[in-house]
Parts: sequence; C-alpha cells; structure tokens
Amino acid sequence: MHYLPREQSSFQFSKENTPVLKIESGERVTFQTYDCFSNQVTSEEHLVTSIDFSRVNPATGPVYVAGALPDDVLKVEIHDVKVRDWGVISTLPGTGPLTHRAETKTKIVPVENSCVAHFNERISFPVEPMIGVIGVAPAGDPVPCGHPGNHGGNIDTHVITKGSTVYLPIGVEGALFGLGDVHAAMGDGEIGGTGIEIAGEVETTISVLKGQTLPRPLVETADSWYTVAADHDITTAIRMACEDMQELLVTKWDLSLTDAYLLMSVAGDVQMCQCCKPSPVEVVARFRMPKIDNMPRLIG
Ligand code: CA
Ligand code: ZN
Repeated sequence: MHYLPREQSSFQFSKENTPVLKIESGERVTFQTYDCFSNQVTSEEHLVTSIDFSRVNPATGPVYVAGALPDDVLKVEIHDVKVRDWGVISTLPGTGPLTHRAETKTKIVPVENSCVAHFNERISFPVEPMIGVIGVAPAGDPVPCGHPGNHGGNIDTHVITKGSTVYLPIGVEGALFGLGDVHAAMGDGEIGGTGIEIAGEVETTISVLKGQTLPRPLVETADSWYTVAADHDITTAIRMACEDMQELLVTKWDLSLTDAYLLMSVAGDVQMCQCCKPSPVEVVARFRMPKIDNMPRLIG
C-alpha cells in the first residue's frame, strides 16, 4: 500500500511532469487531496474572487505505472473516498444559468462522517463523496487540471465514487496518473460552479489493461457503464459520448450500428457531468447504459 500526501501534486496533466511515485500494475495507492482551491478558502469571509487562481484544481500525483504504454488502458478502482468534516460551496461570478440572480458567496458546510452534509440548520442531506479531477498525461500538450478532455482531467462526473472503476486511455509511457478535486456532493451540471469542495483521501488500485484501447474515459459502477466526453459544444459532447457507447456495444455485443442505436434510445440515458462554465472546453456529457441481462462487459 502506497500513500501519497497532498503536497505531491501538480496543476496540469503533462508528460513533462516528474513522477512522485512508481508502482507496478495492480498496486494499491491512497491519494490525499487538497480541495479544488488548494485549501485557500477556510471561512465564509473568504470570497473566491480574492484567492490565487493559479493554484486551483491540484491533482495529487503523478503516479508512473510500470508497463503502461500509449494506447493501453489504465484501470482505476475506487475503493473509498473519505472527506474532511467541512467543505466549501461558492458561487462563481459569471458562471452558470442563475448567475444573474445570485451574489458572490462562500458557504462553509459541515460534513458528518463523509455521509451527511448540513447545508444549514434546517437542511441536511445524504452525500456520496466523488472525484472531480482524475486523469493521465495526454500524448500532446499539457492540459491544466481544471480542464476536461480525452485524458480525463476535470470531468466532474458524480458517479466516480466509492465502488466505481474508471478506465482511461493512456497517452504516454507510465500513464502519469493523478487525481484531486474531491466533492462531498455535486449535482449533474454543477450549475453554480462548485460542488461541496473538500479535502479528502481516495483509496485506489491501479492496473494496466494490455491489448485494449479507449478513445475517452469509461466508468463502471455496480449497475451501469458510462462513456464520458468533453467538448466546447454541448451537442458535440453528447454525440461523442453516444458514439463511444455505440462503438462498445457494436464490438462487444456484436450489434449493428443501427441496433445499438435503437437499444441505446430505449434503454440508456444521456446525462450531463459539467455544463456551467463559460470557458471554451468545459461541457462534459456522459451516456449511461444500465447492465441489462446478458450484456457483456464493455472492457477488462
Ligand atoms: Ca471540478
Ligand atoms: Zn471541484
């Protein structure tokens, strides 16, 4: 079992980053993580407009995985996501569909035992902590951890939680994997711009799948598979997530393109991960296919 402290983190997924840990395929690694603000916001008097934005979205890592080569797939099993006993919610100026009806506000939210958030004296709700930033170094130019892409990154997919498995297309030798930006809770779309941003600890097992390829991230939960795609255009992101699922159903279940399309139309769901931000590459869509009877595994 390896343990990575949160100080061993970086702000971009890059093939130039020096690994902070080297492991063999199949080893367990626990990542301690900052919140997305690098823990700069500690009270309701701290507004996000006054923090150092060059230090947002750190990812703990990168981890070099022996045997990982470009076009292999990295399998990351999430055994547990534990969080600190308080988190931060904030509106972000100019961000999201209700920004014209909100002020800039920081809210500190107590979180009990990683499972209940106390929004205020009257409102509490159950939470399932999730991982916002998870990815590998892309083959090309570095990508800031705040951006999503084919390599993963800030995909803000709330089904990436305890018990789920994330499959990522490897871009460079060693994969150079990292994660951060844990949320005690986040709704689809993250409409206000933040989840309950919170420092945490994520337990994983990281393995290399040889002889398999993926164009973009794939997520498996107990009852579903999810393809995840990012683009500046919402329609394109949805189309890419749908195409990825269609391709998997065609190759793994021996369906025609049209039959896969028909099945997806009646049994699957288009869902949004992230659609609040004004910046150019920030829409992340996913397609959910439930594990229906006789469906083969889509990978691994
Ligand atoms: Ca995020
Ligand atoms: Zn976040």
